[in-house]
Amino acid sequence: MNRLPYKLKFGFFLWSVLGVIRFGLDGSSVYTYAESDPNSSSSTLAEKALDDGTFNAKHAFAYLEKQCEFGPRVPGTTAHQEAQAYLFTELEKYADEVALQPFEFRHQGRTVRMNNILARFGEDLGETILLAAHWDTRPFADQDPDPANRNTPILGANDAASGVAILLEIARVLKSKPPPIEIIIVLFDGEDYGRTVSTMFLGSTHFAQNMGRWKADFGILLDMVGDQTLELPMERYSWNAARDLTEAIWQRAEELGLPAFQRRLGPAIMDDHLPLIQSGVPTIDIIDFNYPYWHTVEDTPDKCSAESLDIVGQLVVDIIYSGL
Ligand SMILES: [Zn+2]
Repeated sequence: MNRLPYKLKFGFFLWSVLGVIRFGLDGSSVYTYAESDPNSSSSTLAEKALDDGTFNAKHAFAYLEKQCEFGPRVPGTTAHQEAQAYLFTELEKYADEVALQPFEFRHQGRTVRMNNILARFGEDLGETILLAAHWDTRPFADQDPDPANRNTPILGANDAASGVAILLEIARVLKSKPPPIEIIIVLFDGEDYGRTVSTMFLGSTHFAQNMGRWKADFGILLDMVGDQTLELPMERYSWNAARDLTEAIWQRAEELGLPAFQRRLGPAIMDDHLPLIQSGVPTIDIIDFNYPYWHTVEDTPDKCSAESLDIVGQLVVDIIYSGL
């Protein structure tokens, strides 16, 4: 893609930081960032107050890194349990209601317990939007160029700590600036669990079949949205299922000056939005599938950027507060 307009617009804003910025994700931990850019010299976004009701890209990126610090979040592992507790506790700080939606998956002779994590912001406000991402990571790097790595779990910085990071940061924004509509955030488990379609999208399938009072009017799914070279064409299943909604979202991105959202049709990608669409919740998948580290051991935070999280986060926040 042509990166020039994007760099012109966001480069100064985000990357002219020299020095050290500190902030905490919770009471017990403080993350330190030292960043520099040889092309610039003054300071910016990261020093912005965290309580001003806006999306903070640095804070979002810290959420991405925090998830990766647990290691691969593979269902059935200790890291998975620890990450779940962290995500639940973080959402509890901001949401009006948080719940676990447990389910079991029997596979290859054993039963694996998984949990979707649900959070609600506002209630009975008329329209309800679902925001979703998957919080589990793939148990094996089956696309790794090195065959020796293909049974190694991936860290999943982009796939999909990036989407979860944006949603956690949006949760923080929703707490400081209550939304005019009801927002439901769902973090799906078991998206990337198996090698076949029938052993993937487990959490979204369970949720779509058991939505109850968590059902929304429409949904936005974030997956692989942290790639440093972000390219977001309109995902084809989304466009087929809800063309007007898809085009409205990309139109808004254009109005906001976010050229990473490309107003062209991209590939059709099987993802967590499909069970929701089948259950009557039109859901749009915002995904950059042009990512060379997909399902490899190289899907690590250094391949992602706060700048990319900011692009997607700003759009979703605008949709929440301005409508479509
Ligand atoms: Zn994946």
